Amino acid sequence: MKVLVASALILVGSCSTLRHSEKIENLKDSISYDDKKIVEKYLNTINSEELKTHVEEISSEKYNGRMTGEKGHNEVCDYIRNYYKSQNIKAPESHPDYYQKVPKEVLPEGLNESQNVIAYIEGSEFPDEYIYIAAHSDHEGIIDGEIYPGADDNGSGTAAVFEMAEAFKKASEDGYNPKRSIVFLHVTAEEVGLHGSRYYTNNPVFPIENTISTLNIDMIGRVDERHKDDENYIYVIGSDRMSTELHFIVQEANSNFTSLNLDYKYNDDSDPNRYFYRSDHYNFAQKDIPVIFFFNGEHEDYTKPTDTADKINYQLLAKRTKLIFATAWYLANSPDRLNPEII
Ligand SMILES: [Zn+2]
Repeated sequence: MKVLVASALILVGSCSTLRHSEKIENLKDSISYDDKKIVEKYLNTINSEELKTHVEEISSEKYNGRMTGEKGHNEVCDYIRNYYKSQNIKAPESHPDYYQKVPKEVLPEGLNESQNVIAYIEGSEFPDEYIYIAAHSDHEGIIDGEIYPGADDNGSGTAAVFEMAEAFKKASEDGYNPKRSIVFLHVTAEEVGLHGSRYYTNNPVFPIENTISTLNIDMIGRVDERHKDDENYIYVIGSDRMSTELHFIVQEANSNFTSLNLDYKYNDDSDPNRYFYRSDHYNFAQKDIPVIFFFNGEHEDYTKPTDTADKINYQLLAKRTKLIFATAWYLANSPDRLNPEII
């Protein structure tokens, strides 16, 4: 009896004094892709040619720079919705036309009503748990008579979401339906103040408390000055702020599939650019949802009429898209729900 008590005490003692570094190592060890070959198969359907076709379409002059509430942006939302219809990826039951109207009352004065576009693949085991892959669809419109095409901002992110949706759909058709539901969310009114994502998180189509994580993409097709000598990188922002596990999942995805240099420069909260607060993931973070923001940094054509499709590095865009796909795959298919805890 005494011996048992004594060993129980020792056990309790050793658990509570488990060093932080050991906890981190245990967490890292618990994350692995047991289905690596399968992930690779669908990840390899993501290709630079299809990404190029979509970026060229989205940034084409006919959409007049996609200003929120304007005809050009409404037309590009139709293009987005038609893409999901063509892939047989369904709309939420509550929004069967894929559109969530964003009323003009919540938008800056002078703008017309707009819409978020929502499509999803229902999970096979945990259909009520949701992974979001998000990108804003709007841009700056026409300024001083010049069209702002926004090929990188955010044609690149929009095209990336399309390619991931297609890859998940193909996997589903082959019998590898994601265990959790995956929502493809194209929010409006980012450029005028993150309004589409704010409206969505205040009026979620799926229960917000069942949101596992949101992966937001805003500009991933170009290279910034800091990396001009080695383009094999992506900035990862926010991954460690609400879930230590999420931070290591993206690293595991990267070491298994993409070998990009993950640059955490802008994850530093003292960084004056404050990018964590400047794109749509922030509104999800405000609801305590673990988020990651994927970003290529600013470049000479950022928010200029010269952000055109011919300047996108499509091979790099494909590689970065694969990283996000592999991360989403893990979140959707891991046996346990992501642990929203900081260790
Ligand atoms: Zn943007």
